[in-house]
Amino acid sequence: MERKHASFTLAFLAGALVLGLSVLGFVGLLGRPEIPWEALERATGIARGTLPGAVVRADGFEVLDRDLDFKFIAARHRVGDPIEFVVAKDGRQLAVTEPLVPFYSPRSIPVIFLLTGVFGFLIGFGVFLLRAGDRRARLFFWLCLAFSSAAMINGEWYGVQGRPLHLIPGILFFLAYTLTPVLLLKFVLTFTTRGRLPGEPLLWAASLLFGGFFSAIVAASLLIPSIELFRLKFAFRFFRIFFGAVCLASIVILFRAFRAAPNREKRDQIRWVLYGLIVGLGPFMVFYTLPLAAGLRPPLSEETASAFFVLLPLALAFAILKYKLLDITVIINRSVVYSLLTMVTAGVYLASVEGLKALFAAGPGTGRRWIPVGAAFIAAMVFAPARSRIQVLVDKAFFRRSYDYRRAVLGFATAAGKTHTAADVLELFSATLADALPVEKVGAFVPAPGVGTPGVALRTGLDYDAVATLLARPGGPEEPFPPGELRRLGFEIVLPLPLGDGEPSGWLLVGPKRSGLDLTDEDRELLQTLAAEMAASLRRIRLQEEVVYERASREKLEELGRLKTEFISSVSHELRTPMTSLQAISELLDSGKADETSLRKHLIGLMAGECSRLGRYLHNVLDFGRIEQDAMSYEIRPTDLRPVVAGVAEVVRSAAAGEDLDLEVKIPAAPVMIDADPDAIRQALLNLIDNAIKYSAGRKHIGVRLAPAAAGGAEISVSDRGIGISPEDRQRIFEAFYRAPEAVRQDPSGVGLGLKIVKHIMDAHGGEIAIAGAPGRGTTITLKFPGRR
Ligand code: ADP
Repeated sequence: MERKHASFTLAFLAGALVLGLSVLGFVGLLGRPEIPWEALERATGIARGTLPGAVVRADGFEVLDRDLDFKFIAARHRVGDPIEFVVAKDGRQLAVTEPLVPFYSPRSIPVIFLLTGVFGFLIGFGVFLLRAGDRRARLFFWLCLAFSSAAMINGEWYGVQGRPLHLIPGILFFLAYTLTPVLLLKFVLTFTTRGRLPGEPLLWAASLLFGGFFSAIVAASLLIPSIELFRLKFAFRFFRIFFGAVCLASIVILFRAFRAAPNREKRDQIRWVLYGLIVGLGPFMVFYTLPLAAGLRPPLSEETASAFFVLLPLALAFAILKYKLLDITVIINRSVVYSLLTMVTAGVYLASVEGLKALFAAGPGTGRRWIPVGAAFIAAMVFAPARSRIQVLVDKAFFRRSYDYRRAVLGFATAAGKTHTAADVLELFSATLADALPVEKVGAFVPAPGVGTPGVALRTGLDYDAVATLLARPGGPEEPFPPGELRRLGFEIVLPLPLGDGEPSGWLLVGPKRSGLDLTDEDRELLQTLAAEMAASLRRIRLQEEVVYERASREKLEELGRLKTEFISSVSHELRTPMTSLQAISELLDSGKADETSLRKHLIGLMAGECSRLGRYLHNVLDFGRIEQDAMSYEIRPTDLRPVVAGVAEVVRSAAAGEDLDLEVKIPAAPVMIDADPDAIRQALLNLIDNAIKYSAGRKHIGVRLAPAAAGGAEISVSDRGIGISPEDRQRIFEAFYRAPEAVRQDPSGVGLGLKIVKHIMDAHGGEIAIAGAPGRGTTITLKFPGRR
């Protein structure tokens, strides 16, 4: 522990030292001197192109190796130091003294080096602090340090300017520069399964050798001073070859690791490191280092080629922030991003103030008062449209998850408003999660609305025990399951779905994430928001259901009231007719005016007929009551239909004795067995024959026919030659109390219940009713029974 702590401090201090020296080197870089070519051109009259070749001596040193010798001279002086140049012109030697000029006159290029360096240091230190114990992170830290230091100092001699102390950043530059490729290679190797490179010590040795060698010659040559020694720097070309080869190897290894990455996450991380290497190092290698190594003139200047370096730390930062390179999770505070944006606005504002000032400088003083207002207006104009776009961009890049989550919530809220059932809402919830936060499973429990014993309106993914636990709890948002129980059920989190005051709460349960990672705070927040939306939708659906239910029950009540009135008026009418005739007959018998035996017999026969008619009405009315209350039951058993039909015919015949009735009954000789309730069939048949008699005028020809049907079924048909049924009435005659107008005219008695009861009986037997005939030409109604099962 102690040692760890010490090595941490040591590494950190070393990093800080490197940073400090790099800053010193950068300050030197800013003052980098340059041979005053323009002034020399003016003074000597020699064209710029041939001028360097014409210089024979400079600063007292004989010039042989142009590039290196001029660098040597510049390294020993500062900008403004007068230097004597001896130039060969037309066979004569011409001595000119001119001061050294600054190399970077607009300072934009050094700013890029500074940015590259600072960025790199920041990332390096950040990673080091966040993952101090990780070997890979430490390697990355050193890589960042080496790279950034080299980028910031930018050259071994630029900052020396004759000050021996400034040789230290120069030496650091060499070490950083030569170590960078090997560190890069080592870091890239961590993405592969291979641990070590064969010949790795050799690589380290080579880079240290290069670094040591060049540091030594530069330091010695400037301290002695010895231009000959400085010329040994030509060997730097070999280092360039080494640098190019190792970097290329790193890119190749990384590319192979990218293709072999085990999952998308890893691939995304590697992809961005690869992008960084290609766009950051690529131009420097292809357009500068390689041509130089090959002894060619590079198409890009060193400055321009190195400017691309800035892209490397940017890509790395992106890989870390977005794809958790090195397993680093950085939570970027949104307010930081927006503070930066606000600073941009302030920047636009200040720039506008300056611009407007320049614009109004010539004008009268009064206009100046409007400058801040105008500037604020410009800033607002510029920033307002940009803001939302920037926000989306920033959100997409770094807050992809919150961005997706926000969209998920929005989509869910919009779609949930259109759902009609709890199941729809749950389906929507599952679909939303499948997109935004894939989980193993989703469970839900929503109690049924209403008071008394609570029911279940929706249950998914929960066993009955779990539901019983949920039902039994008093309510409130506390955890409904004892710890451990939730996991046993296979869920990770349970969220209440409050359904309104006094109602038991519903519950939403969400299983573990498919990715296998734990739920983050952000995930939980999403789930809570979605659950709240879901609860709101459930409450709305519940309210709608209540309204619909209320309306339906009101309509049902009204219908019942109407039926009652209709029923009472029909039944009382229906009862009055036989009662009146019974009363008349009994009075006649009582009066003694009908003493004749045959007359008495006739009257008693009439009484019996009225009584059985009354009985049938009562029977129908009672059955109707049972049907309405769903209390009608049948006793279905194997039944031979022949005695049933024969019995009914017998009853009808005896009741109609003396009436003008021609009843023809056809019954087959063999039994006709079906599964049926004989009493019910009897009643249905009586109703049909009753109708046939009622709706036939004059002599009544009624045919009753029983026949076996296909597949073991049977048919009973009742036909008459009466008024017939119009096609439009065929559907309605099975409704309770419906009577065709023609039927009412023909026979005003009748309640309109008979066929309804026949239909109920046939439905209970799984049978059908067929109607044939036409108005004025009689009717045949056939009861069709299915075969036995
Ligand atoms: P009710 O006979 O009491 O009116 P039903 O339910 O038995 O009631 O019959 C309903 C209606 O069906 C009758 O009012 C009549 O219009 C029509 N209907 C039934 N049977 C016949 C038939 N055999 N001939 C003509 N119309 C009939």
